[in-house]
Amino acid sequence: MSTVNSVIIVGASAAGVSCLRGLRNRGFTGKIILIDKDKHGAYERPPLSKQILLDQKLKSEDISLITTTELSDLNIESYFGESVTYVLPDLRKVTLESGVELAADAIVLATGGEARRLPIEGSALTNIFVLRHFQDAVKLREKLLPNSRVAVIGGGFIGAETSASLCKLGVSVHWLDAAELPLAHILPYELCEKIVNKHCDDGLNLITNCRIKEFVEQDDGSLSILFNDDRESLNVDAIVLGVGMAPYTPYFSEQVNAKILNKAKGGIEVNESQESKYPGIYAAGDVAAIIQGDGSVIRHEHWQSAQFQGERTATSILNISLPSEPVDWFWSDQGDLHIEMAGVFLPNEQQLVVRNEGDWPVYFSVLNNRVVGAVSVNNPNAVRAAMRMIKNAVTVDVAQLENTDLPLRKLMRG
Ligand SMILES: Cc1cc2nc3c(=O)[nH]c(=O)nc-3n(C[C@H](O)[C@H](O)[C@H](O)COP(=O)(O)OP(=O)(O)OC[C@H]3O[C@@H](n4cnc5c(N)ncnc54)[C@H](O)[C@@H]3O)c2cc1C
Repeated sequence: MSTVNSVIIVGASAAGVSCLRGLRNRGFTGKIILIDKDKHGAYERPPLSKQILLDQKLKSEDISLITTTELSDLNIESYFGESVTYVLPDLRKVTLESGVELAADAIVLATGGEARRLPIEGSALTNIFVLRHFQDAVKLREKLLPNSRVAVIGGGFIGAETSASLCKLGVSVHWLDAAELPLAHILPYELCEKIVNKHCDDGLNLITNCRIKEFVEQDDGSLSILFNDDRESLNVDAIVLGVGMAPYTPYFSEQVNAKILNKAKGGIEVNESQESKYPGIYAAGDVAAIIQGDGSVIRHEHWQSAQFQGERTATSILNISLPSEPVDWFWSDQGDLHIEMAGVFLPNEQQLVVRNEGDWPVYFSVLNNRVVGAVSVNNPNAVRAAMRMIKNAVTVDVAQLENTDLPLRKLMRG
């Protein structure tokens, strides 16, 4: 039985909106206040590196997470375009930029984070863009012309997606990575080679193993990228940094940050019920560092996890049984490639099994005869089947997994 009658949710994105829906869907009739510093309100972030770049006409309403009508039907008091500047966790009170003070029985911090910039000279120049908020994507797409030269820096998913989207627009794209092969820190090496080759065939210019020294603005507004080795400098009209995100909690005092943040992973430390060291203060989504039962810490940065954590926070606030944890799942759209990944890939401990199905092989990660991870390209059904195998801890025979004459669905129950 919960004694909570009012909830403040800071952050109207995947985690925050899922929390408010979770509360109302489970019959919570108390007061809910939703606050977001973004004047565009609640929208999906994944389209920012894809559809929003590709289609100049799309507005934030087209990628809305919850409409104003639904907010009003659910009786949610919302403050959009207002930043929370202070959170006093002991008093369960927040202060908005405008000076308004609000208090509640529970506060949910679903504030995600900000895009990282590189700690090098020139990183904040005008034509250097990041992608975290709707306005970032709009500013970038306004800058683009079909013949523009753009350098995308970062060999992770956002770098890959942005490069592929810009390439589709006819922009001349240089994709830069400090590593030898983009994406290889996340996906099986051979698969990355195939993905990256496809991007290069589509027109991307790949530059790897590079260490950037400095960005310099030229008189005509273009930018030069200078390298630490004897590589020639690269001249472009714009640069996009896709070098990750970091949780950002400037609304806490230094003392609170020292107590509440996780030193290894960053983010607000919470238990598996999403509650922080301060009773009644919860965190969910990209900003939450979850201490698991075995003491390990995870902080995810993807949509499904943020959405699940929001829902779990709702059940925790209501003091009802927590939903069971879904198999971790992630997708990435890169031009014509739709990549899905589930579970975990720990290259040293697990056996990598390749199923040569269609144009793109499916990779399974197998540990002690059980599938623990899978990744596919343009084949979501394979990953769906793997998710059932992971969830049900099905014992698999590797030869059967490789055998494309045997449909994967036949292996889902073991
Ligand atoms: C360009 C891009 C593409 C992505 N593509 C994919 C994808 O293909 N697949 C996938 O699984 N994931 C993808 N992700 C990741 C996914 O979008 C995030 O994991 C998810 O949005 C996290 O949700 P969240 O609610 O935790 O935080 P966020 O989405 O970061 O939202 C936090 C909200 O809090 C607000 N806020 C922050 N501080 C304050 C404050 N002080 N006061 C008031 N409001 C505040 C912010 O304005 C923001 O709206 C992508 C992310 C980006 C940026």
